[in-house]
Amino acid sequence: MRLLGNGRLITRDSGAPYFENGGVVMEGDSIVEVGEYAALLEKYPQAELIDARGGVIMPGLINTHDHLRSIFSRGADIAAPPKKTFLQLLEEGSWALDRKMKRADVSAAADCAFIECVENGVTTVFEHHASYGEVPGSLFAIEESAARHGVRVCLCYDISDREGERKMKQAVKENVEYIEHMRQTQDDRALGVMGLNAQFTLSDATLDYCASKAPQGAGWHLHVAEAALDVTDCLNKHGIRPLFRLYDFGIIGNKTICSHCTHVNEREMDVLKNNDALVIHNPESSMSRATGCPPLLKLLERGVVVGLGSDGCGADMLRAFKTASLLHKHELSDATAVWNEIPTLLFENNAKIASRFFKRPLGVLKPGAHADLIVLDYTPVTPMTADNFNSHILFGMNGAMTRTTIIGGETRMLDRELIGVDKQQEYAHAAELSAELWRRMKKK
Ligand SMILES: [Zn+2]
Repeated sequence: MRLLGNGRLITRDSGAPYFENGGVVMEGDSIVEVGEYAALLEKYPQAELIDARGGVIMPGLINTHDHLRSIFSRGADIAAPPKKTFLQLLEEGSWALDRKMKRADVSAAADCAFIECVENGVTTVFEHHASYGEVPGSLFAIEESAARHGVRVCLCYDISDREGERKMKQAVKENVEYIEHMRQTQDDRALGVMGLNAQFTLSDATLDYCASKAPQGAGWHLHVAEAALDVTDCLNKHGIRPLFRLYDFGIIGNKTICSHCTHVNEREMDVLKNNDALVIHNPESSMSRATGCPPLLKLLERGVVVGLGSDGCGADMLRAFKTASLLHKHELSDATAVWNEIPTLLFENNAKIASRFFKRPLGVLKPGAHADLIVLDYTPVTPMTADNFNSHILFGMNGAMTRTTIIGGETRMLDRELIGVDKQQEYAHAAELSAELWRRMKKK
């Protein structure tokens, strides 16, 4: 039994959201009790103590849409003229990288990305992966890396026609084999869903093939209407909008993660709501790729569950949180906008989304939930209460303040020291592989 305490505690449990000096008791991978630190010290005198040293204790953060491999794009130059379209950015950027990635590259990129998750307090990641240089075994390699670093994952392989039929079928097979493999384990640490690229890279025959091969009830994770191109392409080729096309193939349901939905109209929003589908907002990538601002408030008003993702823009979910807040205030010309909505995305809806896939509660500190906790090195200079801790997070905290990360009851970082991981060695290995990968990319 372990007791993490001596800090301000944000539980995300509506019954008892905040303790000025709180503690969390863990047994194995579960939370046993949450409450006042002094009372827990008295009740559990034998518990091993983990001192939060006055920091802020909160549930581990959940990232509901990421591309871990994009860590190997760091340093790339996209500023060269002429101005690039969304499709050119994909063709010259992530697709060019994916095309040359081998399994060793996948493992090394995942290792570094998971280290950064632990360092930024991200304990669960919904990963959307592609590495068409060597498809078979990719998801298994990421899962191995996730297990080594302790990060909880929902993985999928990005099926697309962009590298030809043989590779497309390999990608389908990889999804199916991984999903079935993880179903055989009783582990609530990793699982799989079917992954799809945006519909404009998928023919009718491919969507039919994917739907026919998908294991029953597995769920989907895909890009939807990220850029205007996705809509115009769908209208030109199929005469309907993307959400309707995907719906016709049976892909839109309550375990379907639709990343972006930036260019959806009112009727498509109804399809999302009526099918209880999940939407992920990725403010950093939307702004970085200049693809537009999604109709977030309209989606939320309809009751669509919208979560927050980083979409390959790094592991700091508190930066994504801040960026989302800035984007919508700017877009709506309203400094008071999205005050309550953005915390809902990250802290409420990401947990809700995780609960559609994982067996036990995540993103909340309460008895029976997974023991996924972080401590941030933050000392308020103004009063901090149950009513304003989200404002402290927005204006005062970032991922790099994470001091301690515990996942499934296991300490992965303690007082900023990674446990059982040689970061320098892992980064040096990754740097060798990425340099070689970049050489292969230049050869075409
Ligand atoms: Zn994405």
